[in-house]
Amino acid sequence: MRYAILGDIHANLHALEAVLEDARSFGCTEFHLLGDVVGYGAFPSECVAIAQTLPGSCVLGNHDEAAAGHKSLEGFSETARTSLDWTRERLSSDQKAWLGSLRPQRQIRRTTFVHATLDSPLGWGYVREVADAEMSLALQRTPLCFIGHTHVPQAFGQGIGRALLFEHPDQGVRLPRTPKYLVNAGAVGQPRDGDPRAAYMIHDEEQDGLWLRRVDYDIEAAASAILAAGLPVKLASRLRTGE
Ligand code: ZN
Repeated sequence: MRYAILGDIHANLHALEAVLEDARSFGCTEFHLLGDVVGYGAFPSECVAIAQTLPGSCVLGNHDEAAAGHKSLEGFSETARTSLDWTRERLSSDQKAWLGSLRPQRQIRRTTFVHATLDSPLGWGYVREVADAEMSLALQRTPLCFIGHTHVPQAFGQGIGRALLFEHPDQGVRLPRTPKYLVNAGAVGQPRDGDPRAAYMIHDEEQDGLWLRRVDYDIEAAASAILAAGLPVKLASRLRTGE
């Protein structure tokens, strides 16, 4: 079984379509979504419609929770609030109900999926440093856990700190059986590691193989749609820089 891990799509339909095509060309038959399907981008309804029909799973992200209407937008940046208000108006009530029904954490076979952290899945903390990763790894019951939320692909091994699994992204790596790994799959729809290409990962369960993929997509089309929707200019410009 070979599946794709898609983090932080953020209503970027152009990036999502390019990633799905790439993943299918590598034989992926399941798609596990790490949350934040919506927010920031100009195609929330279209992206939710795709997410609902993909074989696989989807966990709840903070933008999904907010767009579903369950929470005040306090705590979000002004840019995010503007985009979430806009997003709420574009989603059908069925789509909001679907987003609101997503679970914060899923285990599929021997792998865990969560948007932010395992130590506080609904607290929306960020795993940026080794200490953050260790708090999550302490609660991880599977050899591998995928997270999103920071939009930066990286990996941590329990007790060994940062794991340089993706120094040569196109080669892929064979995951050691131990220790446990916590892996951020990066962002499909709004990368923030300086590389504007869409990011996602492929996991081959039989071979324990893991690849970080970077996929070119029509960034200008995604950015133009954000501007045409009247959303903040920053949301368009950051797609071009990947920051
Ligand atoms: Zn996000």
